[in-house]
Amino acid sequence: MISIIAPCYNEQDVLYDFYQTVTKVMKENQYSYEIVFVNDGSRDQTLSILKELGEKDRRVQYISFSRNFGKESAMLAGLSYSKGDAVIIMDTDLQHPPSMIPRMVEAFQNGSDQVIAKRNRAGESKSRSWVSSLYYKLINRFVDVQLEDGVGDFRLLSRKAVDSLLSLSEYNRFSKGLFSWIGYKQEIIEYENVSRHAGDSKWSFFSLLNYGIDGIISFNNKPLRLAIYSGIAVMIADVFYILWMLVKTLLYGVDVPGYFTLISAILLLGGIQLIALGVIGEYIGRIYYETKKRPHYIVADDNYTQVSQSTKKIQKVLS
Ligand code: UDP
Ligand code: MG
Repeated sequence: MISIIAPCYNEQDVLYDFYQTVTKVMKENQYSYEIVFVNDGSRDQTLSILKELGEKDRRVQYISFSRNFGKESAMLAGLSYSKGDAVIIMDTDLQHPPSMIPRMVEAFQNGSDQVIAKRNRAGESKSRSWVSSLYYKLINRFVDVQLEDGVGDFRLLSRKAVDSLLSLSEYNRFSKGLFSWIGYKQEIIEYENVSRHAGDSKWSFFSLLNYGIDGIISFNNKPLRLAIYSGIAVMIADVFYILWMLVKTLLYGVDVPGYFTLISAILLLGGIQLIALGVIGEYIGRIYYETKKRPHYIVADDNYTQVSQSTKKIQKVLS
């Protein structure tokens, strides 16, 4: 069986289209399947549409969060509720073309544990694709796992890969990195980039920036290293400068107006210190969140007949 996992956040405008397109593809290829919708605290009609679909079609399962927990949590929920031998994660805005499914399944049947759909960046603004490709160059230099440009969450995972992903219980999840971290036999297939069908992208400039920082920080401690290196570099420069000043003072005496050098030293060092402090703080923040051991999401509603043990527990705590 194949499980389609579709996180949705305020997707009332495309949900029907998505459901119909996916259903058509799955029926045409005579797959046995389920669609697991995860409603990530939408404030529009998403949930009622899901309820309706669930009543009409027993292959439609939905999980509804008590608030917006973010796409990472939604994907995690979908993965842990899914029952298929293979799982396909897709956006509901039809930017991940369902027509790719047969090729992905074929690659899975040929023995791949992760089939990654990679998009080209056609139709995207120049500046955005430029920033993205720069980011990936940078991140691959900094991070232990290799990330590829244009590769998103659209992928098929075998049951083995899903179980491995679920065994990583960290609170700060950066899926792109996690997918790469678990390894297994991978295959990449390309598709044409599609613009969003309806509704708006949930990414603002700042959320992208934050996502980028997450990507660098959540995978290793190289930024801490960098802070140490820049500290050492500045210190060496300092030592030479002080020596030079000392010799100069001994030979020519003190010249009082040192305002420029003074202020530049203060500013430069201050800047480096603030950055280093920020980096350290970022890690401590993460440790703080990890130690709380909070669940990744809270399920308020679903149409599963047997509610999983952990969900029951959470519900008991909440009531
Ligand atoms: N999404 C979600 N929770 C969020 C934000 C987004 O579940 O907090 C879902 C959204 O419904 C969509 C997918 O994640 O199915 C991708 O979101 P979006 O299209 O906004 O991102 P983009 O395609 O612009 O990267
Ligand atoms: Mg999208």
